[in-house]
Amino acid sequence: MLRDLDSRTAAFFDLDRTLLDMNSSTLWAKHELRGGSISLRQFGRVLVWNALYHLSLIDIETAFQEAVGHYRGRFYQDLEAETRDWFARDVAHHLRPGADRALQEHRERGHQLVLLTSASAFAARAARDTWKLDDFLSNDFPTDDEDKLIGTFARPLCYGPGKVERARLWASERGVELGNCYFYSDSYTDAPMLRAVGHPRVVSPDPRLGRAARQGGWPILQW
Ligand SMILES: [Mg+2]
Repeated sequence: MLRDLDSRTAAFFDLDRTLLDMNSSTLWAKHELRGGSISLRQFGRVLVWNALYHLSLIDIETAFQEAVGHYRGRFYQDLEAETRDWFARDVAHHLRPGADRALQEHRERGHQLVLLTSASAFAARAARDTWKLDDFLSNDFPTDDEDKLIGTFARPLCYGPGKVERARLWASERGVELGNCYFYSDSYTDAPMLRAVGHPRVVSPDPRLGRAARQGGWPILQW
C-alpha cells in the first residue's frame, strides 16, 4: 500500500549544476573542440551563452536554434552513439556526491526518478541509463526520412515554463500529482517548476534563485 502510494511520487532533477557539478554543454563544447568539429571562436561563443543562460539573461530559443542548426544533416543515431561515449568518458564522474545520495534516498522510498533538463535527449538518455533513472524529459530534435536532423527542436522547449508543461503531461499520464513531487534545481530559470511541485529543493543556487528560495521558504541544499 505504502509502496504503491510512493510510486506515484516522482523526484524530478535538473541536470546542469544540479546533478552535475558543472554545465554539460561546456563539456560537450570541449569535446567538439578537441575533435575539431568546432573552432576556438565557436567554443568561446558557447561559453558566453552558458554564462548568459546561467544569469537568466539569454533568449534561449534563439540560442537553441543557433546551436541545433549546427547539427543539421547529421544522423540521429550517430549523434546518439557519440553522446553516449562522451557521457561515459567526460560527464558521468561529475555527479555531485549530494546528488548521488539524494537519488539513492528517493529510490529507497520507491519514488520515480525523472531527469528534467534542457539538455539534449542524447545526453538525457545517457544519464538515465548511467544512473538507472526511471525516465527523462529533455529536448529532442526532429529528423527527416533518412533519420537526419533537420536542424530544429521540438516545442515546447524543455526550459522554464516548458519544463512545467512537460512534467504536467508526464505526471497526468501516470496518475502522479505534482503536489506530491520533488524538484531539485540550481537555477532561477527553473522557478516555475519549483513552484509547481509540492516539495521544491534548491541546490547550490544562483543568487537570484537563492533570494526566491528564502522568500518562498524553499529548502536550500549545498551539494
Ligand atoms: Mg541547472
